Amino acid sequence: MSYREFPDYFADAETSWPEADYVVYGIPYDRTGSFRSGTAEGPRYIRRAAWNNELYHIPTGLHMESFKIHDYGDLDVSNKDTPEEMVEKGYAFAKQVVSEGKIPILLGGEHNVPMGPVKAVAEAYPDLVVVQVDAHLDYRDEYDGSKYNHANALRRFVEAVGADDVAIIGVRSMEREERAAAERDGVLAHCHTSFDVRQLGIKAILDDIFARFGDRPVYLTIDIDGVDPAYAPGTGTPEPFGLTDWETLEIVKRCAPNLVGMDVVEVCPEYDNGQTAMLASKFVREALFWQLHAQKNGHKVPVVEAKAR
Ligand code: MN
Ligand code: MN
Repeated sequence: MSYREFPDYFADAETSWPEADYVVYGIPYDRTGSFRSGTAEGPRYIRRAAWNNELYHIPTGLHMESFKIHDYGDLDVSNKDTPEEMVEKGYAFAKQVVSEGKIPILLGGEHNVPMGPVKAVAEAYPDLVVVQVDAHLDYRDEYDGSKYNHANALRRFVEAVGADDVAIIGVRSMEREERAAAERDGVLAHCHTSFDVRQLGIKAILDDIFARFGDRPVYLTIDIDGVDPAYAPGTGTPEPFGLTDWETLEIVKRCAPNLVGMDVVEVCPEYDNGQTAMLASKFVREALFWQLHAQKNGHKVPVVEAKAR
């Protein structure tokens, strides 16, 4: 595949750090991938895909020029870092971003990269809820000898915010033991499988979730494998019978008004023809546009005030 050369930052993220409301950053890490690897290349390809997007947004009538976005680049992590070291770097960085009243937007990397950032955002927002899109339940306590494997994502998020403050949508793969653990901890009730979505419709499921969450701040974590491999083939552990691109967009739209942190992870360019990275870049932009749309209609985003510097 050849592309025209573009800058190596997320398209239109040209605001300086001090002025920015949103900070895009990458964590190019895939040391624990359990099936096929390569998600460390995800941030680079998502950024590149973003340059294909035009600046005007049809459904809201808004324009990218309205946003103050800074792209920090990638954190200084590599697969030589242990998962613990990587998680600590992500935590420290996100802590800084939220302490300045900015919204962190993370490009992965595998699904352990948001473990530190979710913890940092939860500390800044005590009533935070986490909405996860995923094909997998990600509720093992340990995998391959680590608590910070990508198979443990939801388990760590539950530790950060509590079992009643998560919702996971699109699940269609789990082990019996992790299902039992999720049931024991009261998490399974907040798991909405892709079979549920098919049967009940995404709008009804989101109505249920947001009736429960109300107006609380939201962290949205999108494991791109939650989307069906027909739309998002470029991922490490593809699972058929997934969410459509439209259903996932509906999730992004519903989270956007109260979004205070976000990530898109598990994009694996080696297995992609570009559409997976494109979809990931779109989810970021859609979140921004729908957040601003809500603000223009009088909604107050529950973002914390910047601490005095
Ligand atoms: Mn996951
Ligand atoms: Mn997954």
